[in-house]
Amino acid sequence: MPKVLLIQTTQYSFGTRTLCKQKKIYLPGLALPLLAAYAPSHWSVKILIEVVDEINYDEDCDLVGIGAMGHAIFRAVEIADEFRKRGKKVFMGGYMVSMTPWFVRDHCDSIIIGDAELSYPELLSDFEASGSIKTIYDRQLDNLEGLLLPRYELLLEKPIGYMLPVQAGRGCPHSCSFCSVACLYKGRYLVRPPEEVMRDIRHIRSLGFRRFYLIDDNIVSNPEYLMQLASQIRPLKMIWASQCSIQIARNDRLLREVRRSGCRILSLGIESLSQVGLDKLGKSWVRVNETETLLRKIQAAGILPATEMLVGTDGDTAESIRQTAVFIRKNHIPVPKFYVLTPLPGTAFYTRIKSEGRLLHEDYSKYTSSNCVHKPANFTPEGLDEAYRDLYRKTYTIGSILRRTILNPHFFRAPSVYLFTLYANMVYRKYIRNGDAPNIL
Ligand code: SF4
Repeated sequence: MPKVLLIQTTQYSFGTRTLCKQKKIYLPGLALPLLAAYAPSHWSVKILIEVVDEINYDEDCDLVGIGAMGHAIFRAVEIADEFRKRGKKVFMGGYMVSMTPWFVRDHCDSIIIGDAELSYPELLSDFEASGSIKTIYDRQLDNLEGLLLPRYELLLEKPIGYMLPVQAGRGCPHSCSFCSVACLYKGRYLVRPPEEVMRDIRHIRSLGFRRFYLIDDNIVSNPEYLMQLASQIRPLKMIWASQCSIQIARNDRLLREVRRSGCRILSLGIESLSQVGLDKLGKSWVRVNETETLLRKIQAAGILPATEMLVGTDGDTAESIRQTAVFIRKNHIPVPKFYVLTPLPGTAFYTRIKSEGRLLHEDYSKYTSSNCVHKPANFTPEGLDEAYRDLYRKTYTIGSILRRTILNPHFFRAPSVYLFTLYANMVYRKYIRNGDAPNIL
């Protein structure tokens, strides 16, 4: 029986050789269990999630597949090199590999670009037929109908929390210049038929889970689709989270239905309080003078906002970053995260910054989104790094955490979820105190 080992790598703690490890995975990814389902039944599949698992380089297997999120790509190439030293064939995939195939190509035998549902079975079949695999597989889906049920049982063998992932859509109709989703999907947004999403949700419910994470790059991309999905989820009385644009709060009916269906946390790409900053990133359709109103509507509806914001846009100043800390406190954001704006290779933002001669260097090991690698408009790079760290320090004091979570004015709309965010904040605080961005949970 041929064997494939699939690995999701972790990353090094910032500036060290210490791997980020956790006792539990709270938001397990979908890629490995989904790929496992796409292996023909005569293949044996093992998955390793490095944030909780150890890697045995002498594992008995025929093929090794490695995926990495963001900065973990540096760890991924190290792992690939180790397996190849031992004679294993290695393929790599995922969004970071798809955006920077030139970076990994000397470290593996094959690269899967973008969607893997067609390419990966072809790769396995090539290997079985000839013992070799092509250097690149690049077959994109034009719809998401008929995706197989992920092999969730493989995740159940791991120390996971209370949530399992379910895919809804992929891509996004917007084209924000810094965004990897825009870079890969180029304005396309594909959705799975609601009945197929419901098949997966019912399945995880049958496994005893009452919470799920609806994976979608921007779940409000197609409001009618979301409305349909929410109305089908509602009778199951489950709790779910997802990510979307703050524009969801413009549609009262949709917001109400989403909350009634059990949505309790939405991760929102607020990005910046500077309109100039947003405009220059291709996100002028978000109006900063509406942001607070829209956030209040989301919290009042009983949904917790987890905000994602950038520092270092061309509109940012020392004062606007100080105001960002005030904004988070004033609006009682339960889970705020910040990133230093980074020109990821492959994005339109990278092309612009490079053409303006504003890249400080191309040492991608430092492209971590937690330190400055370009010349910001209104800071020195060191000044931006310090403003970023200061923003995190101010936001993650014990007093601020308590005010934003268990003392939040909306606490009684969703007590157990606010308690969970208290825990998440304490974990994030630990990362911040170690000098890391809190990107893993
Ligand atoms: S709306 Fe969000 S997901 Fe869509 S392109 Fe912009 S940043 Fe990316």
